[in-house]
This record gives sequence, structure tokens and C-alpha cells, in this order.
Amino acid sequence: MNSDPMKLFPWLLLLILDVLAFRIDKSIREKAVELMKQAPLIDGHNDLPLRLRILYQNRLSKINLKILNTTVTNIQKLQSGHVGAQSMNLWFGLSMFLFQFWSVYVLCSAQNKDAVRLTLEQIDVVKRMCQIYPELELVTTSQGIADSKKIACLIGIEGGHSIDSSLATLRMYYDLGVRYMSLTHTCNTPWAESSSKQVHNFYPNLNGLSSFGKEVVMEMNRLGMMIDLSHTSDSTSRMVLRISKAPVIFSHSSAFSVCNHSRNVPDDILRSLKKNNGIVMVTFYTKVLACGREVVNVATVADHFDHIKKIAGSKSIGIGGDYDGVDQFPEGLEDVSKYSALIAELLRRGWTERELTGVLRENLLRVFKEVEKVRNDSKSMNENENEIPQREVQNSCRLDLRNPPLQTANVLPISYGSPSVVQTLGLMFITVIYIILH
Ligand SMILES: [Zn+2]
Repeated sequence: MNSDPMKLFPWLLLLILDVLAFRIDKSIREKAVELMKQAPLIDGHNDLPLRLRILYQNRLSKINLKILNTTVTNIQKLQSGHVGAQSMNLWFGLSMFLFQFWSVYVLCSAQNKDAVRLTLEQIDVVKRMCQIYPELELVTTSQGIADSKKIACLIGIEGGHSIDSSLATLRMYYDLGVRYMSLTHTCNTPWAESSSKQVHNFYPNLNGLSSFGKEVVMEMNRLGMMIDLSHTSDSTSRMVLRISKAPVIFSHSSAFSVCNHSRNVPDDILRSLKKNNGIVMVTFYTKVLACGREVVNVATVADHFDHIKKIAGSKSIGIGGDYDGVDQFPEGLEDVSKYSALIAELLRRGWTERELTGVLRENLLRVFKEVEKVRNDSKSMNENENEIPQREVQNSCRLDLRNPPLQTANVLPISYGSPSVVQTLGLMFITVIYIILH
């Protein structure tokens, strides 16, 4: 048996250092949880409604959203919001809530077909979900978020194909509660270019925004709907940043300099975004975070945060997890209960509590309030009644109703046309019988 105390000393020292490191890390994790209680997260992008359509055809009566386990989002997880939250909540006697922008998204393949119907059905499922469950509450204003004591539901459209190139449709979505719209998904619309080039072949010659696209941007400013530039091409983003009167968001994107994926935001756009007062809500989709690297974890996400902070400042950042929109997430951020692991990592890297309160909610709230202010300042402007030129929309389902033939032979009931010989003879026969009987 080794009894020399000098030989035991290094082992003892290592043990003490280990215990100290564990205690420091535990206090950082607790600090992250506490911070999220004080400043509940507003996540910019969650695709649960898409899963509800694909898996359950939007039949909410068939599922229990509190404990649903076929998705990475459910109400219990949203309420806990971080690893071990339920036990911690018992300890602190507090509940923890998140705020969620639910994405109402329909596939690009619905463009020029039934995208509007499908979008309305997705809005319907979000509204019903938020009515059925008392833990949820639909809100449509920045004040509504600040006042809510529940999981506040906000609605964002993903992909401008949902408006079918119609400003009137855009206005009706606003009336239904939609508060942001991504100008494109993975397809060009007739008026805005997407960052995805090889996925669809819609309107391949478009570069950035068309003049109708500029009108969409200005109408969104007038309405008070946030402009989301995730999925748009860099040309589109640069043009929008030049003309938008209100701050914009990237609801789920990351930094191009860290991972050169076309979905991510390059540094020059980050600098313009800072001037615009807008934000990038960093996504957790491993493909756009790590560009094929094998190990993708919380530190990978934090690298994007550090870079965006270096270029545009901490006030330009939020979180847009894209949960249930994709199927690969970093280790440690696998579902909506685990955000606090990221906050703890950023604390370890020296981010201040004030900066993190901004990341969690205040930066998005600032953007939302400024967008509402632009709306309030635009009260004297009328609705834009322009229509997209018919030649710019390659859609055979779209009727041109400027000079419609109001009466055509094939739409008139047959009895209004000239009677046939058989009809005339039949009528004469009935008349003769009537006269004889009377
Ligand atoms: Zn997306």
C-alpha cells in the first residue's frame, strides 16, 4: 500500500479541481435556467403545424399535444424549456414558458396550384390548437407577448408563394393574425428569388426582387407584418434591406462565414442588418450549421453566435430553432426542452446576462415594436390596389377577369336557350291534354 502523502498529492489536487469545475458548471447551468425564467424565449421558427398535417392530416381530435411523442415539440417540453426543468421548477416553485412563432408552411410544389387553400388550412390548425389547449394563447402584438402568461402562439408564413402574387391575399393573412412572412422558401416566386437554386424550376430568370416584389415589401411595411429573409437569395436580401422602412428578421438562418451554406447570411448583409436594426434568429439545423462536419453540438451553434456578434453586435441576434422543420439537430439541442444548454454555453463564453436577455426575447420584441411603429406611421397610406402583370405569372389556373365574357352558351342553363323539336312537341302534347281535361 502506498502511504507516501507526496505521491497522493497530485491525485488529490485533480479531484479538488474536478469538483470545483463541476460546481462552477452547475452554477452556470442554473444561471442559464434562471435567466430563461426571467426572460422567456421567443423562438422565431417551429414547424410543428407541418408535422400535424403530414402525420395527422390536421386532425387535432386524434392527438394529445401535451405529450405528443412523434414530434420534437409538445406542450410539456415547451413548458420545461430546458434539461431537467421539471425538477428545477419544483425546486424554485416557478413555471417556465416559451413563446413560439408557428410556421404555416406549404410545399413549393403547391405554387400556382392550391397554395392559398393549404396556407389557410395551416392557419386554421394553429388557431384551433391555440384555442383547444389552455396552456396556449394566440397573440398578434408585441404588447400581447409582453402580457401573456401562457405559451404565446404567433403565426409566420414560410414562403411568398402562399400569397399567390396577390396583395389582397397578403392583407387577409394579416387580418387572420399572420405577423411575418418569409419572402421565399426553396422556390422562386414570380417576384422574389430564393437562395435554393436546384430544388425547383419556378421563374428561373429572376434576380432579387421584381418591381411587384418591392410592392410586396412596402405593403408588408404598411400592414405591420415582419419581413423574413430566411431562404431568400442574397440579392433579394440586399434589395429588401435597401428599401424596407422597418427592421427585418431572418427567422431561421446562421452565419455564412462559419458555414458557407447558401441559407446563411454573409458578413456584408450582417452589417446592413445591423444598420436596419434587424436580427438573425440562429437556426439549429445541423446542415446549415456545420457544412458536413461530423461533430455538431452546442459549441457549433455558439460559434455562429460569436461570429454574428463580432460582425453585427449582440443586438442583432435571436433564436429560430426550426424544430420539426428538419430532422437533424446538434447534440444537446435535440428538442424544444433543451435551449438552456445553449444559453449556458454562451455564458461560459463570456456573454453577459444583458446580451442574453436580448437574444432570448428583447431583440425580437424591439423589431416587432419598430415594425408596429412603421405601421402606425403609415396610417395615412391607402391599401396598394396594384396587381402583378399577368405575363409575370406563369399560371394557367389564374383567370384574367378584366374583360370576362359574362354570358356564354356553355354556362347558360339549357332551358334558357332555344327549345329543341322534342321539347316543343312535348310541350304541345301537355297543353292539349290540359285543354281536354278542363
Ligand atoms: Zn425553413
